Amino acid sequence: MRATMTCPECGIPRGISRTMRWNPDGTITQVGDPLHRLILFESDNLDRMWMALSEALGVTEEHLWELVISSKSRATRAFLRRTLPWYVNLAARFVGYRALMSAIEAQGLVMGYGKITLGGQYPRRGRPERVTVFIEDPYSLPLFCGDFKGAAEVLERRWASLTYQALDERRHQIDVTMSGEKLEEEYFRVEDGAERKPGDLSYTPCPSCGAPRELVRFSWDLSRGIIRDTESGRRTAFFGTAALRAVFDELEHELGERVTPTIIEAERRNTLEAMGVEEARSGFESLRLRAALRGLGLLTALSLSTERLEAKVANPALPEYLVGLSLGIFELALGKRGECRWELEADGDLRLEVVPAG
Ligand SMILES: [Zn+2]
Repeated sequence: MRATMTCPECGIPRGISRTMRWNPDGTITQVGDPLHRLILFESDNLDRMWMALSEALGVTEEHLWELVISSKSRATRAFLRRTLPWYVNLAARFVGYRALMSAIEAQGLVMGYGKITLGGQYPRRGRPERVTVFIEDPYSLPLFCGDFKGAAEVLERRWASLTYQALDERRHQIDVTMSGEKLEEEYFRVEDGAERKPGDLSYTPCPSCGAPRELVRFSWDLSRGIIRDTESGRRTAFFGTAALRAVFDELEHELGERVTPTIIEAERRNTLEAMGVEEARSGFESLRLRAALRGLGLLTALSLSTERLEAKVANPALPEYLVGLSLGIFELALGKRGECRWELEADGDLRLEVVPAG
């Protein structure tokens, strides 16, 4: 069955309902690899966030992109290495990248990454020295570059370098060149996420495909690889949380502590654009469902008064995102800027408190 076929009942692509699970503990995981967590999140704020980071930290955007591409490619190598069936490796050797790319293209369309097409490879047969892809409407150009570099490195077991160029407003060309240097085994190691707490959340399953009915607020344009939140109109995509974590940690390691507040600030702004006042004030059950449907974790406590927002989240996906989200909710619900104190507790729960900014 093709990944881009949709459920006649609810319209969700089969490539989503068959490969992903929305769990009672507020997480989204991959069926074939339950340790691999994902979030369904606004994507159009990411490239703006890279720009904000480069400005705030005084580094060129090119340098920032380099860091993003290298950390994303490392995460992609680790992920593919663990999950790619053995025959994909063989298939890539014998049939070349074309067969593989059609699988990647379908995956990109259902995950909201944009439309990926293979441009060509040199030499045309055998192990390639250079591979070209085009991507239209990428969810994030540096993240996609990292994905493609990592995939090529796993398939060829050699290091790769890449160049990218804009062809027009929507289309980009990416050329990957394989180096002669072999990729050693230790570069594939990956750390898995923390142990998760069980949860009691339930969704209404679609009787035909089993995907949560609550996903109806998202719409898929499968010709372009674009998912939208129909209520805000904003573009969203699925992100592996381990990969985003790796990128954020690498940026903090290279550029220092100011990375975290810059990410939080980007997510605060994102919330103001993506959420309405009504939704911000909609209370525990509604916000709990909203966060879980996006795979952000399980809200276990929430109180909101005129002066204070307190919340606790089990299995938090990316604390920076949840803190930015809380600041945005506070601001929308109470009409004033907030400041947040937050910590990760010993059991992994995120506890946070937002009060009016002083
Ligand atoms: Zn369905």
